[in-house]
Amino acid sequence: MSYDHKAIEAKWQDRWESEGVFHTSEDVTRPKFYNVAMYPYPSGELHIGHVRNYTYIDLITRYKMMQGYNVLSPMGWDSFGLPAENLAIETGIHPRESVEDQIRRMKAHFRQLGAAFDWSRELASHDPAYYRWDQWLFLELFDRGLAYKATAPVNWCPKDQTVLANEQVVDGWCERCGTPVEKKNLAQWFFKITDYADRLLDDLDDLDDWPDRVRTMQRNWIGRSHGARFRIEVAGLGDDFEVFTTRPDTIFGMTFCVLAPEHPLVEKLIAGSAQGEEARDYIARAARETEIERLAEGDKTGVFTGRYAVNPVNDKPVPIYIADYVLMGYGTGGIMAVPGQDQRDWDFATKYDLDIIRTVQPSDGWDGQAYLGEGLTINSEFLDGLDQAAAKERIIEWLEGKGLGERSTQYRLRDWLISRQRYWGAPIPMIDCSNCGLVPVPRDQLPVELPEVEDYSPKGRSPLATVDDFVNTVCPQCDGPATRETDTMDTFVDSSWYYFRYADPHNDEAIFDRSKADYWMPVDQYIGGVEHAILHLLYARFITKFLSDIGLSPVTEPFMRMFTQGMLVKDGAKMSKSKGNVVPPDVYYRDYGADALRLFELFVGPPTDDAVWNDAGVPGTKRFLDRVWKMGTDAHRFVDRPPNADDGRLMAETHRTLKKVTEDIDRFHFNTTVSSLMSLANVFADYLSGAPKEEAFDEAYRIMILMLAPAAPHIGHELWELRGYEGMLAGEPWPRWRPDLVAETMVTMVVQVNGKVRDRVDVPTDISAEAAQELALRLEKVKGWIDGGVVQKVIARPPNVINFVVG
Ligand SMILES: [Zn+2]
Ligand SMILES: [Zn+2]
Repeated sequence: MSYDHKAIEAKWQDRWESEGVFHTSEDVTRPKFYNVAMYPYPSGELHIGHVRNYTYIDLITRYKMMQGYNVLSPMGWDSFGLPAENLAIETGIHPRESVEDQIRRMKAHFRQLGAAFDWSRELASHDPAYYRWDQWLFLELFDRGLAYKATAPVNWCPKDQTVLANEQVVDGWCERCGTPVEKKNLAQWFFKITDYADRLLDDLDDLDDWPDRVRTMQRNWIGRSHGARFRIEVAGLGDDFEVFTTRPDTIFGMTFCVLAPEHPLVEKLIAGSAQGEEARDYIARAARETEIERLAEGDKTGVFTGRYAVNPVNDKPVPIYIADYVLMGYGTGGIMAVPGQDQRDWDFATKYDLDIIRTVQPSDGWDGQAYLGEGLTINSEFLDGLDQAAAKERIIEWLEGKGLGERSTQYRLRDWLISRQRYWGAPIPMIDCSNCGLVPVPRDQLPVELPEVEDYSPKGRSPLATVDDFVNTVCPQCDGPATRETDTMDTFVDSSWYYFRYADPHNDEAIFDRSKADYWMPVDQYIGGVEHAILHLLYARFITKFLSDIGLSPVTEPFMRMFTQGMLVKDGAKMSKSKGNVVPPDVYYRDYGADALRLFELFVGPPTDDAVWNDAGVPGTKRFLDRVWKMGTDAHRFVDRPPNADDGRLMAETHRTLKKVTEDIDRFHFNTTVSSLMSLANVFADYLSGAPKEEAFDEAYRIMILMLAPAAPHIGHELWELRGYEGMLAGEPWPRWRPDLVAETMVTMVVQVNGKVRDRVDVPTDISAEAAQELALRLEKVKGWIDGGVVQKVIARPPNVINFVVG
């Protein structure tokens, strides 16, 4: 018999909403638990891969509520960005219209799932009441020199017609559309995240409840390296250039230098030289190449400039090359090449027939090329015989002493490029005045609202630039005519602080109230995809540190515990629209119900692992729920009798399951909680087929409902009410297991005859020596081995072992 999942689920979704069961407020007398799923882009769809993630979030919310926490689990929308804008370009539908329609659809999906979000705190980045505070945040950064405009070679996506942050370039490809990214020199807005590089790196050490791989990815992205920076003179030119190296100890092995083709000194180096024409061809070619092509593995090319650099340690001239594998955007745009200790330099030296000098003694038997291992310094005059660390110290002191260079730390991290030449984002709140320069929009004029446009296509500049009414304004400082900034902000600005806003979502006086952040921050549990390991998580950490520096945030790290879920795989691939293997949940809601779907999403595999979708799974979890339903609603033939061992076993199994389920939820082993509940249902069935006692079954079944509630809340709430318990299940305390019942009461005793194991038998842990002997002598196998012999001695070590010595 099936329960009516449609009626029951609709009923409880209505009641949760109408009674505001999950609306939270700051109750400082109670411990809080702040549970956040990364706010999604409102794609309109919620496929079963997403459902897995939201089932985890929802289970944690409900479980923590039952544990007595004041739980906040909000939901909002990362609703600015390219998908809606690209749709607008194709169809002319205003992005606001399409995202708001999609938000409505997503909310309906979440309702069908039974998600316990606090909808009173809903927010959306495209709402002027929200992005007003993006603009405010921008001005706060600007006031402190942490937002600045600069002309720099930037990543340009020719398809999306906009610049991209370094973090949005994946191996040289546009993260959004997969087009190879080009370099362009443009005036752009940046946030100075590099000022926070050390703190962002060092504080990772304290994030013990973050996945190691996420921390490693952030460390590598920030990429701090220690070394030296020094200047190298160009022979006979009176000019010099700067290089950075992590291996200044190998400086005697420098046999050539390489500059990026864009290096400002290059034109002067090749002017009038015999190589000038070849070099200019090479530079033009490099300019047409993408970063991927330039950094690709394989043959490196270069051109001799005709000029020589002077090695500062021994005044030896070495040739200067230009080569496209050196990029201007990273480091200083020039390198000292040490082929003895660098394989790329080795390959280049071999190809162009340049000297190779080893400055580190390779280990015995080494017959490779560049040597990167440890060894004593050789061929290096005053550094000879020192190990790497000592040689590094010595040469840095020497360079500093001569005023040629200095100790230096370099980062891979670049400043965060936040301006976009696109429509659907928060306008950058700056005004350009010919008298005053760049002037911030006064705070009381925020938000600078996004104007309506005729044409959403970017065409290399922001569509906002086509709206004269928007562009032309008055300078707030001199009242003269001025123009507005027309770029919009990267959507990662919106998502860098939204979890603060949930604490105080309707505040129109401030970005949020400090006292509310004091109560809710940090986020106790954050859940999202590992694809955000660098971009979003790094920016959020940066902005939290900034908000802390200006006295607004009580914490310097936003997310205490971070969980990255595995993906759902179908037909051998990650579920995605483009692969055409997306399974919509609608048919499951209709035919089996949200609870059955949720249970299978939990059951499908360990949460951190990728899992394979199985179409037969949800019907299976529905059968389990039907079975639990039937046990709770059928009339059983209960027996009025004194308690017996069957009741004891039922309670012991129930409490053992409770202990396991509690521990498994705490460890995020959600899949095994479901299998434990399934096993417990078998124990119940056994019990009911004997002579069941009503009080014992009621108590065990009550615990079953409570354990089921976070995973399958609709059926849980309905059974709770049907069986006559007071109050709404969501607020019921999570049960505690009884240690006396959980203890293992039976153990396996080994039975030996003349010291050899002949059988095993389960005995109570407190069995006496006499009882153990009596029990063992009744075993058929043991009888056979004694077989007419005389038991001369019994050595009993109950409950573990008993040995009969037979003569
Ligand atoms: Zn693109
Ligand atoms: Zn002015």
